[in-house]
Amino acid sequence: LFEPQDGGAVLERESDQPRIARVLVEETALELDYIIPEELAHRVHLGSRVHVPLQGRRAIAVVVQLLNDSPHAGRLRPIADTIGTKAMFPENLLKLAKWLSAYYLCPLRQVLRTMLPEAVRSRPESFLSDSHISLVKMPDTDELEKLRKAAPIQVRILETIQANGGESTLSMLRKELPRATQVIHVLVKKGLVTRSEVRVERDPFQEEEFMPSAPLTLTEEQSAVYARVLQALERPADSPPMLVFGVTGSGKTEIYLQAIGRVLEKNKTALVLVPEISLTPQTIERFKSRFSERKQRIAVLHSHLSEGERHDEWFKIHEERADIVIGARSAIFAPLENVGLIIVDEEHEPSYKQDENPRYHARDLAVVRAKMEGCPVILGSATPSLESFENAKSGKYELLRMNKRTDGKSLPLIRIVDMRLEKRRTKDGFSILSEKLRLAVQARLERGEQSILFLNRRGFNTALSCMKCGVTCVCPDCSVAMTFHKSDTKLICHVCGMRKLPPRKCESCGDPSLSFAGFGTERAEETIRKVFPQARLARVDTDTMQRKNQLRDTLRLFRSQKLDILIGTQMIAKGLDFPNVTLVGVLNADLALNLPDYRAAERTFQLLTQVAGRAGRGERQGEVFIQTYTPHSPAIQFSRHTDFDGFAEQELEQRQQWHYPPYLHTVLIGSRGKEAAHAEFSLQTLASRLQKEAPPDLIMGEPCPSPLAKAHGQFRFQLLLRAEKIRPLVMHLQKVLAGMTFPEGVIVTWDVDAMSLM
Ligand code: ADP
Ligand code: ZN
Repeated sequence: LFEPQDGGAVLERESDQPRIARVLVEETALELDYIIPEELAHRVHLGSRVHVPLQGRRAIAVVVQLLNDSPHAGRLRPIADTIGTKAMFPENLLKLAKWLSAYYLCPLRQVLRTMLPEAVRSRPESFLSDSHISLVKMPDTDELEKLRKAAPIQVRILETIQANGGESTLSMLRKELPRATQVIHVLVKKGLVTRSEVRVERDPFQEEEFMPSAPLTLTEEQSAVYARVLQALERPADSPPMLVFGVTGSGKTEIYLQAIGRVLEKNKTALVLVPEISLTPQTIERFKSRFSERKQRIAVLHSHLSEGERHDEWFKIHEERADIVIGARSAIFAPLENVGLIIVDEEHEPSYKQDENPRYHARDLAVVRAKMEGCPVILGSATPSLESFENAKSGKYELLRMNKRTDGKSLPLIRIVDMRLEKRRTKDGFSILSEKLRLAVQARLERGEQSILFLNRRGFNTALSCMKCGVTCVCPDCSVAMTFHKSDTKLICHVCGMRKLPPRKCESCGDPSLSFAGFGTERAEETIRKVFPQARLARVDTDTMQRKNQLRDTLRLFRSQKLDILIGTQMIAKGLDFPNVTLVGVLNADLALNLPDYRAAERTFQLLTQVAGRAGRGERQGEVFIQTYTPHSPAIQFSRHTDFDGFAEQELEQRQQWHYPPYLHTVLIGSRGKEAAHAEFSLQTLASRLQKEAPPDLIMGEPCPSPLAKAHGQFRFQLLLRAEKIRPLVMHLQKVLAGMTFPEGVIVTWDVDAMSLM
């Protein structure tokens, strides 16, 4: 599916001493040739950023090809200068950029722009600096006494430096004495101290202490997996990507750590991707502790760093001062060289897909990059994506399983609460907390144990379902829940575009009590406060966790048992380990299930499995309650028995039958604009042009309104394309798009391998 297609061809070196550089001008997307002047020859590489003269000014460009000759050879101008001495895009990264550009149909210029952090792009090498102060000699006793009378502050500074072992920094001295700068100036003149400028790293973990940790003795299951990983490290060329499918707590991370240890022994580097949400201080601590003797050589990249920190972490990698990089999605673009291993933890996480241009999937890029780097890649998960699982089944990936937790504990008991049987207790006919779950929480409060209540609020328009039989209105042709659109009061299928009036009574059982499923964490919190006025509770979602460190602080409170109940969204579903939590409640499992998306069941299964993994991590057995109006649905039944294989088997069968990924690729085309008619018409025109000379395997729906039909004052439409082979489809799309102009104010986007239809 993801063969890197000769991405290197254009970039190939044509001789050892190229004279001409083909550059991509960053602002204009022009590709132009320039002469490499003699004096810059050692600094102009593939992937270098350079200044070039362009229309009477200087422009910034990236060298994308080195040549011996150019069609315009006589008329070329020289490159003016390079930015830094080393290429900002290592050769393999430039290859990856080309590949990404072709696969996702995104201009190379935009890809290169995304690859560099903003601060690196606009202010490279803007390091903070400080002055290092060294004591040359202390004045002898007499002089010192004289000085103490004449200039007591000078003496104080000298004594401070002396007490500090004869070394200090200006910033430290200034903390003690704001006037230190002037005083140091005088002391330097007197020859008593020396001063030299040093670069200061903005280290996000400066204040933290890390206890060294030693590798653990692996369990039998771990040893078997690790042995395979070691083999792959020895012979990467013969090793397909490895899918480590291990239940939560089976010790995947321990395997990653030991594998990285081996990579470092071979003097190579390792790149680790984790979802943003699990890039918690605990995760980073585990790495920094294991590799404590070289913790300075671990770079961390994620979106909560300040611009300055990100700049410094990037340069740490660029200047080869890091050999482990841990980061979220965009860390796949870390300018790491000599890569010996790439790991993608929680490979099923949808957040690996970027939802703006370039719409890349970091897990898929990891597989491609590993191939380019000639190193093994490990994808890890407790609930693999069906894409990866299918790749493993077909032999493209190697499946490595771990079924037991290292602590030998059994998985928590999972109970399904059938909400159809619950009395309607709140005004709008929705029961937020079932009697069973209420009693379970009550029991925890009495025993001093903790509970997590989970509510996945994603989705804006909600599905229409029957309160009596639980059936949701589903499109007859596509097997996805239809979405109610308030604007035209119709149910619409987002795959094929079919519309219909919402039924007045349930189409399955005839009961008139149809209702839109939907309440959020905020309302849940209010209700639970009323039910348990004595409980100490906190809510964790993107609305309440705006402040920096707020999430960390709340989780600390919870961990130290100063809170009884945590209510939250996905933010609390992953990677958290609280030994005193013995109860997890899922307030509405149907929310994810009813998304207008063929991946709804997969998401639900993953979410429920993950949430359940939060219960009973300590000494006591955990209990999980799943509230649902559709207790019979496969995603819920299979997750109840933590039966991934059963779920995957039946879900994959469905996907095959309905022509969905992983059996077909998708391209979701969107159009939006202030004028609904213009936006819709643009898609219709595009659709009819796509029909001509289309690849034989193309399946195309009708343009229809997006689930989010209007946003930011713009009307949105979409069109789903599916095909077995993605490359011909993308090339066809590219050709059609090149020959079209859209009305002013209409924006057309495309998402290759779209993760959701929304
Ligand atoms: P996963 O990443 O699969 O969820 P972890 O690697 O985080 O699993 O391991 C879960 C827990 O088990 C951690 O506390 C870890 O320290 C511990 N652990 C892992 N491997 C071993 C081992 N071989 N022996 C003892 N404890 C282990
Ligand atoms: Zn349909």
